[in-house]
Amino acid sequence: MMVVLLGPPGAGKGTHADALRDRFGIPHVSTGNMLRAAIEEGTPAGRKAKLLVERGDLVPDELMAEMVQDRLGAQDAAGGFILDGYPRNVDQARDLDRILAMRGGCLDRVLSLSVDDEEIVRRLSGRRTCESCGAPYHVVSAPPAAEGRCDRCGGVLAQRADDRPEVIARRLAVYRAQTEPLVAFYRGRGVLAEVDATGALDDVRRRVVGAVR
Ligand code: AMP
Repeated sequence: MMVVLLGPPGAGKGTHADALRDRFGIPHVSTGNMLRAAIEEGTPAGRKAKLLVERGDLVPDELMAEMVQDRLGAQDAAGGFILDGYPRNVDQARDLDRILAMRGGCLDRVLSLSVDDEEIVRRLSGRRTCESCGAPYHVVSAPPAAEGRCDRCGGVLAQRADDRPEVIARRLAVYRAQTEPLVAFYRGRGVLAEVDATGALDDVRRRVVGAVR
């Protein structure tokens, strides 16, 4: 099963991709996580991406295509994957077609998670992540028991550099201008399912799993 999750930053793509991974036993491939790891490790790709990611701009398509092709070629993705954060524009969608054609397949489903801008800003500005184990928190809706500390491992909770207000605005603008056109692109192919990503987390999760089935 080959699935793409589309949606603005803060729509919950990462959370729901994890739920789909657990439900269907296929890997969650997040290009944002891959880039953050590359930046942290200081790889050549990470060095090229660093400033762009910090500003909320898109990393060049060729670099992303190479990264995604490598990742989807790994053994654990042979039976399918959930792509989160890729493609992010129409050229990347065509690159993905090419990558999938080489393995003799095409996308089964594209989920578009919708959330309005006000809710996105609320979600992202309160988002915190454990620096040690990656567990997600929110200062209002999912706070840790002890401020600034992870409930699971005691690690320090940090705000992503690109979750600062000025960068959130930039990421949203980039999403609306470059990524949102993919909704119509995939609707035209008959693989799109639109999911309301607001409301209780369990309800959204049910809608997401239902849309993939
Ligand atoms: P995300 O974690 O998906 O919100 O991605 C964080 C940042 O990584 C984005 O704001 C971009 O700077 C970069 N990024 C992630 N995926 C892509 C992609 N497919 N194309 C270009 N840049 C990307």
